[in-house]
Amino acid sequence: MESTLMPEVSKSDFLDTLKSTTPGETEFHQAVQEVHESVAPVIEQHAEYRKHRILERIVEPERIISFRVTWIDDNGIPQVNRGYRVQMNSAIGPYKGGLRFHPSVNQSILKFLGFEQIFKNALTSLPLGGGKGGSNFDPKGKSDAEVMRFCQNFMLELSKHIGHRIDIPAGDIGVGGREIGYMYGMYRKIENQFSGVLTGKGVKWGGSLIRPEATGYGLVYFSQYILENNNDSMAGKTCLVSGSGNVAQYAMEKVIELGGKPVTASDSSGYIYDPAGIDTKKLEFIKELKNERRGRIAEYADEFSTAEYFPTDRSMGYNPLWSHKADLALPCATQNELNEIDAQNLINGGAILVAEGANMPCTPEAINLLRDNGVIYAPGKASNAGGVATSGLEMVQNYSGSHWTSEEVDRRLKIIMKSIHDSCLHAATKYSHDKDYMAGANIAGFLKVADSMIAQGVL
Ligand code: NDP
Repeated sequence: MESTLMPEVSKSDFLDTLKSTTPGETEFHQAVQEVHESVAPVIEQHAEYRKHRILERIVEPERIISFRVTWIDDNGIPQVNRGYRVQMNSAIGPYKGGLRFHPSVNQSILKFLGFEQIFKNALTSLPLGGGKGGSNFDPKGKSDAEVMRFCQNFMLELSKHIGHRIDIPAGDIGVGGREIGYMYGMYRKIENQFSGVLTGKGVKWGGSLIRPEATGYGLVYFSQYILENNNDSMAGKTCLVSGSGNVAQYAMEKVIELGGKPVTASDSSGYIYDPAGIDTKKLEFIKELKNERRGRIAEYADEFSTAEYFPTDRSMGYNPLWSHKADLALPCATQNELNEIDAQNLINGGAILVAEGANMPCTPEAINLLRDNGVIYAPGKASNAGGVATSGLEMVQNYSGSHWTSEEVDRRLKIIMKSIHDSCLHAATKYSHDKDYMAGANIAGFLKVADSMIAQGVL
């Protein structure tokens, strides 16, 4: 018998209602609109998704926790920040997604990231729900002791809402191995148990080999599968990379290993262009600069005479990093870092593929222009899913008390990225979007979560 649960809602009503009920959440609206564009025709074809009002339910977080974090700085002065955890959807598994520490963090940004995470996690084929969290705390310029005190006080509250079968946070911008260590130590002390409640842990204390590398490696594996599908390969390809943090570093490492040539890297202060190529030795310099000394990318150009440094000038309205001639672009810094002008510059420079390492780095206008001009576009929810997938592998190792070799984790990562690639193409083809990775990723992720929600009833 056909269900008659709810009245149906029209497409335009859906986006209008979303915007009026979540005013000012522009990043969240952007992320929803992109998914909506791809899945609306699917919902049109399947009455059950309309009757169960699946999209209306998916955009509403299951829970948002917001809390005060007070900590003492090195001068003995109390400081106050805001912490969050957005528990977006747990239909297919416990909430899973990173923590971001950056001054720009607000509810809109975390809701967009949590929303993206639902579909990304579904694509990995692992049983992981979607969540995201963080704080407007800025680790830049803080001493180690200040970062530790902040992380401990953040976990003092967050620990009440997470658990290794409930919600398993990880890293993101501003949260790397150091921050995970401080938070994990505090969780262990509060709960008096050693569990896999966070991923991205150190290898000596429950972490998985290859987790730090996984997002960047996975991005390049995904790009390689796309190129192979077009009878091409990474060998000899010039790559523009933005960012110089976790994702960018390991993306560059894998590009170099597969015979490609990264020529740019950036941070929020500026970027370097090294037409001779960033090789293994130069990449080691970047890793030491960013991970040990926490310095600025400008120092790269002081160290290597082949490179030039360009400071950030936001008044330009575009990012000149994307105007250099290259075959591939791998944006690995942050959201909306590649706009329509940048997309035009990439097209003019002969780019054939833009694969997102960051979450939502391309604006909607940039995506449309790239696709209209035949540039293959790989959306972050598919191309950067290697990080969360390997977090899933870390959870499996923690649950079973085992520890896999690097080769074993890397082998599984490659299989997962290939399966995501194939699911995107399969879903795209089934719904008449030939070779459209964006439509494919959105549809494949949506179908899994939507069907699971329907099976579990109206909750
Ligand atoms: P990191 O903090 O390690 O590095 C972030 C890099 O991006 C830094 O070079 C940083 O420069 C730069 N950056 C950050 N914000 C801005 C900004 N507003 N303008 C210009 N540059 C900026 O973070 P990750 O490498 O972990 O994350 C990068 C992206 O990848 C994010 O979008 C994240 O959500 C996404 N991602 C990360 C995953 C992971 O496993 N870590 C998994 C999947 C996606 P500066 O130091 O000056 O701030």
